[in-house]
Amino acid sequence: MQIILVAGGAGFIGSNLCRALLDGGYKVICIDNFITGNRDNIKSLQEDAQFKFIEYDIVKDLSAIVSETSIDYIFHLASPASPNKKSPRSYINYPIETLLANSQGTYQLLEFAKRNRAKFLYASSSEIYGDPNVSPQKESYFGNVNPNGVRSVYDEGKRFGEAMVMAYVRKFDLDCRIVRIFNTYGPKMQADDGRVVSNFINQAIRGEPMTIYGTGKQTRSFCYVKDMVEGLKRAMFKDGITGEVINLGNPDERTIEDLAKVIKKKIGSYSEIVFEELSEDDPKTRKPDIAKAEKLLQWKPEVSLEEGLSKTIDYFKSI
Ligand code: UDP
Repeated sequence: MQIILVAGGAGFIGSNLCRALLDGGYKVICIDNFITGNRDNIKSLQEDAQFKFIEYDIVKDLSAIVSETSIDYIFHLASPASPNKKSPRSYINYPIETLLANSQGTYQLLEFAKRNRAKFLYASSSEIYGDPNVSPQKESYFGNVNPNGVRSVYDEGKRFGEAMVMAYVRKFDLDCRIVRIFNTYGPKMQADDGRVVSNFINQAIRGEPMTIYGTGKQTRSFCYVKDMVEGLKRAMFKDGITGEVINLGNPDERTIEDLAKVIKKKIGSYSEIVFEELSEDDPKTRKPDIAKAEKLLQWKPEVSLEEGLSKTIDYFKSI
């Protein structure tokens, strides 16, 4: 049986990925330090005999805790990811941890991959494009990032992580791929994550004001987590794509104001929509060009925003 290590496996995307890998017949070793991950996310996974959980910080040497030398695949999804400083889980509140997870943590995982000759996938982010001057964003676009603003701990962390991964590809011929994950939503998102989808849904369910930051004319493109997990699996298991950088996301672009209206209507909520201050360096537009993923992985999202939101609303109502 092949063994897969998922760093950040108790997070939103990580725990959904672990479930899919177990269902696919793999043995999964999940590592998380719970800075932003959640014990509830792995409860049902722990009932599976092929699932092993290790509470650990990937910034430290992994050989101290993982004895296997036959790991076949490593997914690096371990990093805080929410920019909203009002959230206790935001990377703004964990600036050093975020920088280290993507630099030192990436180094430790790559060293571990090298010893195991494991295939490696690094979860980069659409944030490496910063506040883009072009739309949609293709992988060849270098981005427009403030190198020392509040978001830089994440943006530059991910950019450094990409550079580190490519160094191992070039110097050691390690079989790595980089995926740039665009906005993703769905079950197992943290209610207090501060992301726009979780905020709007929970505000609308509770009848609290729905908080649009800025004018609401800024855009994002939202991918349902099931589609994202499928893209991650395809990127990892596809042969012959060493060193490729691939956008994963849903190109269905919406304004934040439109998203608020769609969610309010779906829930039948009486919440008022209020406008609050926009945070520093908030990107005005974001939309993935996924032609490369379509060509290399034969992948494109299948779940519409309306359908995905219904499932996510049901999830938040249930918890
Ligand atoms: N946003 C908002 N209200 C909220 C949370 C977020 O208007 O309660 C906006 C935020 O300013 C940004 C967009 O929604 O323009 C997406 O924010 P999110 O934190 O989900 O992800 P980002 O794409 O910024 O990483």
